[in-house]
Amino acid sequence: MEIRTRFAPSPTGDLHIGGARTALFNYLFAKSMKGKFLLRIEDTDLKRSKSSLTEKIINDIKWLNILWDEKIVFQRQNQNKHKQIIDYLLKKRLAFKCFFEKEDRTEKNIEKIGAQEPAFRSPWRDFSKNTHPNKQYVVRFRVPSDPSRINFTDKVRGELSWNLSTIEDFVIARSDGSSTYNLAVVVDDHNMKISHVIRGEDHLTNTVKQLLIYQALNWVPPEFAHIPLIHNDKGEKLSKRDGNSSLLDFKQEGFLPDAMLNYLARLGWSYKDEEFFNLDQAISWFTLDGIGKSPSKFDIKKLLNISKKHLVSKPVDEIHKSLLQYIRIYKNISLSETISENLRQYLPLVVERCTSLGEIFDASAFLFEADKVRDKKALALLNDNSRKILSDFVYAIKSANFAWNSKLLNEFINTYCEESSLKFRDIGIPLRIALTGSTSSPSIAHIMEILGKHQTLDRLNINVD
Ligand code: GLU
Repeated sequence: MEIRTRFAPSPTGDLHIGGARTALFNYLFAKSMKGKFLLRIEDTDLKRSKSSLTEKIINDIKWLNILWDEKIVFQRQNQNKHKQIIDYLLKKRLAFKCFFEKEDRTEKNIEKIGAQEPAFRSPWRDFSKNTHPNKQYVVRFRVPSDPSRINFTDKVRGELSWNLSTIEDFVIARSDGSSTYNLAVVVDDHNMKISHVIRGEDHLTNTVKQLLIYQALNWVPPEFAHIPLIHNDKGEKLSKRDGNSSLLDFKQEGFLPDAMLNYLARLGWSYKDEEFFNLDQAISWFTLDGIGKSPSKFDIKKLLNISKKHLVSKPVDEIHKSLLQYIRIYKNISLSETISENLRQYLPLVVERCTSLGEIFDASAFLFEADKVRDKKALALLNDNSRKILSDFVYAIKSANFAWNSKLLNEFINTYCEESSLKFRDIGIPLRIALTGSTSSPSIAHIMEILGKHQTLDRLNINVD
């Protein structure tokens, strides 16, 4: 049997970290089994689905390098197939038209219904056609009372048994005739020959409903694997309120896709003690048995750690390329050839100190921002005394004649300090502030080399006045 998984986002919001992880697990499982990974956009909720969001979700999973096989399926295009199945279920009396109006669902009514069954049982379950009023209706699935339980094996959670009296006669077609999520998913998964459905644990009751539909249609259901949810550090479900929770947030902060993928894979899945790996390794190691049963905690420190390891493992030219793209897209800055080259030279000095492209951008912003130091804290350190030291130094270095490279610059500064009875830091600190606007930066001689003589002197002149 061919292994076929799918990721089925509803385009009603940005791709959440949990959704990205679901996509990844489905992808890893399919690829580890030499199977296919498919993408289905569940856009049947006409009011909430937006094509701009579909595009964003597609871009996000592409960015992660999770690439799908076959053509994208848009659920909306399958509506006729959904309707045919709804009609079939109605014909077979496995579903029924329900004229029960929301307003009827007063507490009194619910109580009366609830006296026999904990979950909603529609009074229209057993009415025959000729008693139907000429009113709007929804179609509900007739949840069987015998057998009273449904059992299935979940690939993560093991044997599960569900009491059907807790499952309401759920709606499968809305009053406008459109299919609801549970019916559409079963029909589409069946038609797409999905062998395994891997999704968040919050879908467990949907799975029960979907299994009932499979049974009613006499279709073989896929295997199910429910992944535990992602929690914040308070042990609650990770949500928008926790700050960064959509993939876009992390893209904006400049995390590399490889790092994000690595971290997402480790959110609830493990292989031996492996913490740092790439996509091919994850594919070769992935099994459903490796998915844990308890919720995973979103740990930003761990992400930063993994991210740093990925950054330092990349060749400088690759980081440079990603950084230029990041700056263009997220900072809206196009760099000139010269500055872009300065940045490339600067990268080896700064990568080790950073965990993301965003941090590299901040640490190197002085290369392409205005020459004038704006940071107030740094400016405060440029007092009259240090300005005087700097201006004497500028005078000396301007007239000196040597090749402008870090080695000779270092020698020059050291000799200058000796001759002027200064400590290195007496010059180093104001020099660093005047050139980079910050008190911490990699070797000042390297920075002077990267900026070049002309720009170094320009910046010094501006900030010494
Ligand atoms: N559209 C559903 C969601 O985004 C898909 C759930 C499923 O995988 O069946 O939650």
